[in-house]
Amino acid sequence: MSIWKTIGMGLFAIILFSCTNQQNEVSLFSPDKANKVSFKLDADGVPRYTLTRGDETLVASSKLGFVFENNDAFNQNFSVESTSTSSFNEVWEPVIGERNSIENSYNELQVALKEKNEKERLLLVTFRLFNDGLGFRYEIPEQENINEIAILSEETEFNIQKDAQAWWIPGDYDSYENIYNETLVSAIDSANTPVTFETQAGTFLSVHEANLTDYSDMTLKGSDKGLYCNLVPWPDGVKVKSKTPMQSPWRTIQIGEKAGDLIESSLILNLNEPNKIEDTSWIKPMKYMGVWWTVHLGFETFEVGEHQAAVTHKAKKVIDAAAKFGIEGVLVEGWNKGWDLRGKSNEIPNFLEAEENYDIEEVVAYAKSKGVELIIHHETFGNIAHYEKYLEPSFQWMKELGVNSIKGGYAGSINPPEQYKHGQWMVRHYRKLMELAAQYGIMMDIHEPIKQTGLRRTYPNLMTVEGVRGMEFAAWSSGNPPSHTVTIPFTRGLAGPIDYNAGIFDIKFESLNNHKFNWRKPKKKYPRNPGPCVKTTLAKQLALHVVLFSPMQMSPDLPENYDGHPAFKFLQDVDVVWDDTKVLNAEIGDYLTIARKSKDSEEWYIGSITNEEKRELNIALDFLNEGQKYEATIYADAGDAHWDSNPTAYQISTVTVDKNETLSLKLAAGGGQAISIKPL
Ligand code: CA
Repeated sequence: MSIWKTIGMGLFAIILFSCTNQQNEVSLFSPDKANKVSFKLDADGVPRYTLTRGDETLVASSKLGFVFENNDAFNQNFSVESTSTSSFNEVWEPVIGERNSIENSYNELQVALKEKNEKERLLLVTFRLFNDGLGFRYEIPEQENINEIAILSEETEFNIQKDAQAWWIPGDYDSYENIYNETLVSAIDSANTPVTFETQAGTFLSVHEANLTDYSDMTLKGSDKGLYCNLVPWPDGVKVKSKTPMQSPWRTIQIGEKAGDLIESSLILNLNEPNKIEDTSWIKPMKYMGVWWTVHLGFETFEVGEHQAAVTHKAKKVIDAAAKFGIEGVLVEGWNKGWDLRGKSNEIPNFLEAEENYDIEEVVAYAKSKGVELIIHHETFGNIAHYEKYLEPSFQWMKELGVNSIKGGYAGSINPPEQYKHGQWMVRHYRKLMELAAQYGIMMDIHEPIKQTGLRRTYPNLMTVEGVRGMEFAAWSSGNPPSHTVTIPFTRGLAGPIDYNAGIFDIKFESLNNHKFNWRKPKKKYPRNPGPCVKTTLAKQLALHVVLFSPMQMSPDLPENYDGHPAFKFLQDVDVVWDDTKVLNAEIGDYLTIARKSKDSEEWYIGSITNEEKRELNIALDFLNEGQKYEATIYADAGDAHWDSNPTAYQISTVTVDKNETLSLKLAAGGGQAISIKPL
């Protein structure tokens, strides 16, 4: 039986639909009546929508429609054939997530449009308006005058106020691994979603998409009026290849009165299909360690040789550490044949054969004897056709070995080189991968993924993905600025879990001093900072395990940097999936404090982080149970801690608290604080 369930599903006879005196304009309110979306056809029969909240226009009149390669433009000369409204309300339970139940409540408006010419082509637009935002999608039904579809342009506009503040990364078609810009909307040339905004009136918005299925990734482009949809193309310039009946992904605009409301919103998940996996007992959130960071630091290699990282005895050493620390999983990168040919062959690597010096059967057996789960690494090097040939045989082999998780990777550009990583062709690949993994009972952590759009609701074995400029950049570039991790929860994080790989304790990279060998050469593209590149304090590394939600969460540093370290207790204690999530305070790019209640437990974990500024934040513990005393263990920055000059100075203290308590959190520049709260 599937775990999701529906409570109180049904259509309510609430009439929220109203015709105004403007011809062809219809409006719909959110269940709490705060948000309003209006649809109209202008004088040229161009479909347009407007989104308002109270007196504030959030999205001014914005166009809808398509331009096709193989058919007349489908963006004007329409008449409204019919409109209908309905309401929906359910509470469903995610298999794993940030909370144990999610309310899905919206009012819906469906508009059927017909062209006013002899072709009489039909287009449906469905709006779902929630208290926390808007989703809308196109449907092109089966009809005589459209069969094959070749979209040259989806004409959707998002005319958000040009003087709103925006947090965005460039609209790169192959990578989401970038530092966020903070500018006015008018300064955006192109952006990958989610793009997040604060209007002049202080309302928070984020534009993204939900349920990206057999379509290409939506990026945004800037124009004189605002922003518009720009889909990632196929090699021939066509954006989407489809046929009727066709549904677009949902275009989403999340709305919050506070920045933290965006993080608490479940709108993206609510616009996805329910869980398709019947037996979910094999889906097990976990913490993991790895044979990984040493290669990023450069003193071990993925390739065979003297400094090879993936050798049997080194893997066993990490397994021993994981067993000792109570960490469930161990990832070993560079385990299979073909790494020496990277960049030289499109027929690598071999997903069925381990390199010499790495006895995978022995490692799996050893891990099992220690109660540790091995995570298989599938670095595709972007050789997609090659990887697809290996998918089923490698999944089969993994199940025979008794291995249930994959960390995938798509480093570099893809092959065929004329395809983009975020185009429809690759969207199809990533979906095929997830469907097959679900069929074989395999959990996925995908690096260099297609961006998340809520598919984890449908396939809860999609545990986590990267798709962000993560911790790896600290090892071989100038790193990520302290504001980065205070920005991504409000942008990239709205799409879903982030496998960021925070938890570096050797922040000054003193481990490097023990190794003469280093294959990493400073790169032009990523000049290596001579100083510490992690750019946070130690306490902030801990806090990121709460702030950055990920049902597979890595403790990435070398085992010896954790062993006996008093602060490691926090990473051992903290959970990775949650009964509840509360944002206690938040300003995008400045600071963020999140409290999460551990799954099936009365324990709470708090993570608080800041940017380059030191600050003091007061938090009320009023979410705790009435009449219960708790022990709070506080992992704080020391008084003289600083991300650059003194990153590893921390202090641990213990206090007894209850729900009437207010804690005062002192965060160093680039610092943070992590707190575990356990019932006494
Ligand atoms: Ca990466």
